[in-house]
Amino acid sequence: MSVTSSFWRAGLVALLFFTGPVMAESTQRWAIAIHGGAGVIERARLSAEQERAYRQSLQKVLTAGAEQLAAGSSALDVVEATVGLLEDDPLFNAGRGAVFTAEGRNELDSSIMDGRTLQAGAVAGVRYTRHPISLARRVMEQSPHVLLMGEGADTFSREQQLEQVAPAWFYTEARWNSLLDFLRSRELPLPQKPAGVGECIGDCTSSLIHLEGKFGTVGVVVLDTAGNLAAGTSTGGTTGKRWGRVGDSPIIGAGTYASNRSCAVSATGTGEYFIRLGVAKEICSLVEHRGMSLQQATDDVVQRQLSAIGGDGGVIAVGPNGELAWSFNTSGMYRARAAAGQPVTVGIFKDDP
Ligand code: ASP
Repeated sequence: MSVTSSFWRAGLVALLFFTGPVMAESTQRWAIAIHGGAGVIERARLSAEQERAYRQSLQKVLTAGAEQLAAGSSALDVVEATVGLLEDDPLFNAGRGAVFTAEGRNELDSSIMDGRTLQAGAVAGVRYTRHPISLARRVMEQSPHVLLMGEGADTFSREQQLEQVAPAWFYTEARWNSLLDFLRSRELPLPQKPAGVGECIGDCTSSLIHLEGKFGTVGVVVLDTAGNLAAGTSTGGTTGKRWGRVGDSPIIGAGTYASNRSCAVSATGTGEYFIRLGVAKEICSLVEHRGMSLQQATDDVVQRQLSAIGGDGGVIAVGPNGELAWSFNTSGMYRARAAAGQPVTVGIFKDDP
């Protein structure tokens, strides 16, 4: 072989080597959907500024997740990272911006599930972990348990050296005021503000937070390029909750579920109803055992079963073939989705695409 032809051959190999991964990427399947809570969200009640802020935030988080997936990140990593971004955003009721209990505390719930192994982790009522979703993942990967609660979960979080923050980190003026309204309307005692709130960190006065929606939980469902599904959910629960109330968000099978055999689901809404129906697992069971499409299954559970018992809220879901679905029986749900070769779609109101 002449020097010239081996030169060209080396060049061709190098070209294939460098263009190969890019070509593979664009044909590989991935999909992601996120939600930021469901509730009474009506065009007339949301200012243009608020609408813009929510749309921008959803778009930004979804885009970050989509880029990670396109680059080959695992479903679990993308769920943890994107839920973490939403936890840091005061617009949503999770992490920073979480609602308050009747005692004036933020008690955070979160869960994550790996569709490949059916492993799951969750925490309820944690108070100092900046990213409860990361703690849920540590429970799944670094403990023999599925669900840890309260002080024990906070201790485990410190042992795992996850970032700890003062209660003032989670504080927002808007959520505090809505707690005061809630307590006054029920003639319940008003608590002290959390210690250190005087020097609250960052934008704790955020006037853009949409309170009427009541909800605001966040969740993410993902199919990665290796064909694995994962789901995660994170919330502050419900304003003025008492007696150690825990909703569906940290309950595997209710607020979160993932199985590579059927689907990955994250829910938001009145947790008590979602727990009773085992909403997330019920959707996946309808797909796996009744052969329903993902959209049929989410509609059946949300529009028919949930509505029949008086529950309200919604879900996002993804299947192993990249099919995405969402369904909600409220007037709106903060949501966004994207898949390989498909653009990002952001929605708030019922009539958004
Ligand atoms: N499902 C959550 C709970 O009941 C609330 C929500 O989704 O907004 O704690």
